[in-house]
Amino acid sequence: MEHLPIELQRNFTLMRDLDARAQGLMRNIDSLADEYLHNVKNMSFDKRKDHLEKIQCLFNKAKEYGDDKVQLAIQTYELVDKHIRRLDSDLARFEAEIQDKALSNNRNQDDQTSSKKGRKKMKDKEKKKRAAAGGSEEEEQVKIPRKKQKKGGTSSTSGGGSGSGTERSGTALAVVEAALTGIAHPSDVLDMPVDPNEPTYCLCHQVSYGEMIGCDNPDCPIEWFHFACVGLTTKPKGKWFCPKCTADRKKK
Ligand SMILES: [Zn+2]
Ligand SMILES: [Zn+2]
Repeated sequence: MEHLPIELQRNFTLMRDLDARAQGLMRNIDSLADEYLHNVKNMSFDKRKDHLEKIQCLFNKAKEYGDDKVQLAIQTYELVDKHIRRLDSDLARFEAEIQDKALSNNRNQDDQTSSKKGRKKMKDKEKKKRAAAGGSEEEEQVKIPRKKQKKGGTSSTSGGGSGSGTERSGTALAVVEAALTGIAHPSDVLDMPVDPNEPTYCLCHQVSYGEMIGCDNPDCPIEWFHFACVGLTTKPKGKWFCPKCTADRKKK
């Protein structure tokens, strides 16, 4: 990846070199042609032929330089394309990592909330136990174990709430997943039958160009639209909803 600028620079230098040589050749050809036209009247047939062949030869050489340049340009394009592809795949991997992290983060949070719940339950149980066991000293005794429980509870998930915890994290996971797909539309992007390097938008499913407007519905499946495709020439004031979301909102 770090070699890209160097390789590009090398290719561009080579191309400029070829350009300079081709231009030199063209100047040669020009002067030869001038000379030929100037002297054509007093030249013998063979001499004329020689001269013309010389010019022809120079033209061929110039063409070779041109071909080399085209080759270099193609090579450069492929180089850049390759790097873009690599960046794209890196980006995709990075996004997947972020999603994973967000999911696991949420799971951790959920574990914490469930452990809190567990603590509360424990406390209640303790209270009941004590209420059942001892009569008068209940109030004093409850205060002490409560403090102890708080310390123990934060460091480790207590067993009491584990049952409800797994159940809750399951539903929370689904919610998070739904939210994530709502934001990123990964399936939408992947299903498009076009160059994967170029995401498409709008009702027309084309790549982005010109002025684009974003739908203000956060759950919009398309999100971005070409001005022309939604009948706009300037950016509207306030919130704007795409035709699909407008229809959906009217239904509700
Ligand atoms: Zn469009
Ligand atoms: Zn919309």
